[in-house]
Amino acid sequence: MARYTGPVCKRCRREGQKLFLKGQKCYTEKCPVERRSYPPGQHGPAQARRRKQSEYAVQLREKQKVKRMYGLHERQFRNLFSRAVKKGGVTGENLLVGLETRLDNVIFRLGFASSRNQARQLVRHRHVEVNGQLVDIPSYEVRPGDDIAIRMKSRELDVVEGSLESRTRPQLVEWLTLDEKKRVARVVRAPTRDDIPMDVQEQLIVELYSK
Ligand code: SF4
Repeated sequence: MARYTGPVCKRCRREGQKLFLKGQKCYTEKCPVERRSYPPGQHGPAQARRRKQSEYAVQLREKQKVKRMYGLHERQFRNLFSRAVKKGGVTGENLLVGLETRLDNVIFRLGFASSRNQARQLVRHRHVEVNGQLVDIPSYEVRPGDDIAIRMKSRELDVVEGSLESRTRPQLVEWLTLDEKKRVARVVRAPTRDDIPMDVQEQLIVELYSK
């Protein structure tokens, strides 16, 4: 599956908010969303002035925002949504929990990588273990009780060290514990909606896919 390799900052500007796709730069004033708060392209400023958006457009933008934040393709996102429906309960929350418990996201939340893209690379390049076993599948779903570690030979990687030492590193979420020195973490419980620090209206995504 081809992955988007164009300028990622345009994606944030399209959604009108920071999606934190570029690591350290996202936390500085160099972030283009701070400097140009209108959509990219020739007609971007005009689009920003246009007030009313259709209901469909609002729902679509919310879905695109979340999909891009986690770096998924439409098909992967759809599959996750179908699983969220089958689980029963609140579909929107199930969807977000499904996204949060992906291994690449967990590596990002632990601070081993400064963006989800970088985290995905760490997993793909075989630097991560779950319960002592090498796992190179970014979509691997972690469960309560799982131990997640950076492999012994990869613990001093510049990417990992730089990210852990970064001043802009986000706070650790409550459903994970981390032994920073050993580069080992544990999933203490499943996340709930309150544990997901994101400004997202997941109900809009459910409405879009339920049409
Ligand atoms: Fe670029 Fe990061 Fe700012 Fe998004 S949040 S526009 S990826 S610097």
